[in-house]
Amino acid sequence: MESSTGGPVVAVDGTSGSGKSSTCRGVADRLGLRYLDTGAQFRAMTWWMLREGVDIHDADAVAARAGEPTIVSGTDPLAPTIEVDGVDVAVEIRSDRVTGAVSPVSTVPEVRARLLELQREIIDADGGIVVEGRDIGSVVWPQAEVKLYLTADANARALRRAAEEGGSDVAATERVLAERDRIDSGRATAPLVMADGAVHVDTTYHSLDEVIDQVVQLVQQAVG
Ligand code: C5P
Repeated sequence: MESSTGGPVVAVDGTSGSGKSSTCRGVADRLGLRYLDTGAQFRAMTWWMLREGVDIHDADAVAARAGEPTIVSGTDPLAPTIEVDGVDVAVEIRSDRVTGAVSPVSTVPEVRARLLELQREIIDADGGIVVEGRDIGSVVWPQAEVKLYLTADANARALRRAAEEGGSDVAATERVLAERDRIDSGRATAPLVMADGAVHVDTTYHSLDEVIDQVVQLVQQAVG
C-alpha cells in the first residue's frame, strides 16, 4: 500500500553493513522519494539512555524510560538528520559506545512500540519513501510496494565498514557486526527476518551503483 498521500513505500531490511544506507539514499535520490533510517532512531534512543545513565542491560529500566525522549528524523536522502530533544545527534549515534549498546536496547518491546508509532507516522505522510531497518517489510509496513532483503558476506561487510571508519581493525569490525546480527536475529520482538515477498539482493560482488540500478528497476517495475 502507498503512503496516504501517494507514492511508493520501499522497505529495505538486512544485516548490519550490507550496504542498506548507501543503497537506500541513492535509490531515494534517483526516484525523488524521501528516506528514513530507522537504525538512526534506535541509535538515538540508545544515545539518550546512555546519557541518562540507564543500565542498557536492564530491560525493565529501559522500558520504563522509553517514552521520554522526543526523536525527530529528517527525511531528505541527501541530508538526513536526527535529533533527540532538539539536539543534533548525527555524529554521536555512530560512536562505538552507541554501536555496542544499540542491539540490546532494540530488543526491548517498549522501545520498539514507541519507534514503530513514529515510523508509521513518517511513512504515512507526504509521498513515497525508502525505509531501511531490520523489520520494515515484516512488521512496520508489510504492505510496502517493494520489499528488499540486503545481505553481503561477513568479510565483505567488515572490509567496507572498516574502510568507512577510516581503516579500523577488520577482524574486530567483523566480530562487532556478527554480534549485532546475532542479537537482532534472535530477539523475540520483530527479529531480523526476510519478509514475505521480499527480494533477496546479495551485494557481495556488486558495486553500489549496480545495486542502486537494480533496486531502481525493481521499484519502477512494481509501480509501473
Ligand atoms: O541500521 P543500523 O546498523 O544503524 O541499526 C542499528 C541497530 O538498530 C541494529 O543493529 C538493530 O539492533 C536496531 N534496529 C532495529 N530495527 C530496525 C532498525 C535498527 O532493531 N528497524
